[in-house]
Amino acid sequence: MHLKSSVFRYWLVRRHHRKERMMRTVIVGAGLVGLTTAASLRLLGHEVTVLEHAPRVRAVGAGIGLWPNALREFDTLGIGDEVRRLGEPTDAWFYDAAGNPKRAAGYDASAYRFLMVPRPELTTLLADTTGRDRIRLGAHVTGYTEYDGRVEVHLGGERLRADLLIGADGVYSDVRAAMVPGSAAVEHEGNYAWRAVVPSGGERPEGTMVTIGGERTRGGYTRVAKGQTMWWVAQFDSGELSGSKRDRALRRARHVAESGWHDELLELIAATPEEAVLENQIMLVPELPRWTTGRVALIGDAAHGLSPHLAAGGTLGIEDAGVLRAELASGSADALARYESVRRARFEKVREHSTAIEYAVGAAESAERYAAFSDWMLTTAPAT
Ligand SMILES: Cc1cc2nc3c(=O)[nH]c(=O)nc-3n(C[C@H](O)[C@H](O)[C@H](O)COP(=O)(O)OP(=O)(O)OC[C@H]3O[C@@H](n4cnc5c(N)ncnc54)[C@H](O)[C@@H]3O)c2cc1C
Repeated sequence: MHLKSSVFRYWLVRRHHRKERMMRTVIVGAGLVGLTTAASLRLLGHEVTVLEHAPRVRAVGAGIGLWPNALREFDTLGIGDEVRRLGEPTDAWFYDAAGNPKRAAGYDASAYRFLMVPRPELTTLLADTTGRDRIRLGAHVTGYTEYDGRVEVHLGGERLRADLLIGADGVYSDVRAAMVPGSAAVEHEGNYAWRAVVPSGGERPEGTMVTIGGERTRGGYTRVAKGQTMWWVAQFDSGELSGSKRDRALRRARHVAESGWHDELLELIAATPEEAVLENQIMLVPELPRWTTGRVALIGDAAHGLSPHLAAGGTLGIEDAGVLRAELASGSADALARYESVRRARFEKVREHSTAIEYAVGAAESAERYAAFSDWMLTTAPAT
């Protein structure tokens, strides 16, 4: 019921924004950012095709924390209320390993407040908003050619013509490989994350969000939706991995569960079926010399995949979509170049914050540096 009405609202907004000229736009990747971009550009009247190599639209991961700057783009699409209904407002408290809460002084409460949304439901909503008939599944893009103000997308032996190509194909982007040869994502050595969504039990409803433990570990749990709790553990210097994924997560979780204060986290992990545990080697996209060429643009993780300790890569990718939409709406011939210039400048600062948080020592410094980041991100977010 809610879903239908939000999709209807999207169509009303889209009619309002529709422009005369029909631009044929191909988007590679039906992830969070590709689908948001597809819906955003359909608002401008673009004839959008999303190419996704997986056999179905699927969300990899558990829950995702979305900040108000991302929710604004969803409001523009007319689905903001629906996304808010899907999620749980969450406070990003930091704790030390003995359970003492840490919060940096001098920041507004909004610097800690985001919406935790279950990824599968969000992806379903975005795919419905984009229009399932616009998404071509099992379509693996291998590259592209630009010529005479047009672009040809390579799909195996097939060639698809477009006015605009958007590479939203994540950290392992094939569009990026064609645009910037030698830009393959690299392993963030030793940086691993483990997580799962499990039925909520008797654990604290307010969760334990980010607990900073010894041996460069972090972890915690939080409600992602009614009756669902997500636990997560991460470590920067993970060393050798042995045992099952659940055992690997449990071993790291003990560093954030000193004095028994965090036994709930250990219990949640121990009760998780092995096949439900997600384990990620964190990959980094190197700084690129360009994000666009004449008719092609990179967006989301394809352009700037970073370590998830910022917990804002998706949010910032959704911001990308808003800026791209606004620049293209201006009708300016250098819309892509302007998009690139604005976003690359913003990501220089994001990288600085990311490094500062990675090397913070202890919970108090982590809280301070995280608040500095989120406050900066929210107060300087583009008004699109
Ligand atoms: C552990 C973890 C926790 C995180 N927590 C948060 C958080 O709390 N908040 C937040 O904002 N961000 C978070 N992030 C970051 C966020 O998940 C990513 O930034 C975001 O999902 C990137 O979306 P995307 O659409 O750019 O890429 P992806 O989600 O990777 O989507 C890319 C899509 O492209 C498809 N594809 C790839 N290659 C091709 C091809 N050649 N042809 C066709 N299709 C192709 C893929 O199948 C995929 O569907 C987290 C990340 C991790 C790993």
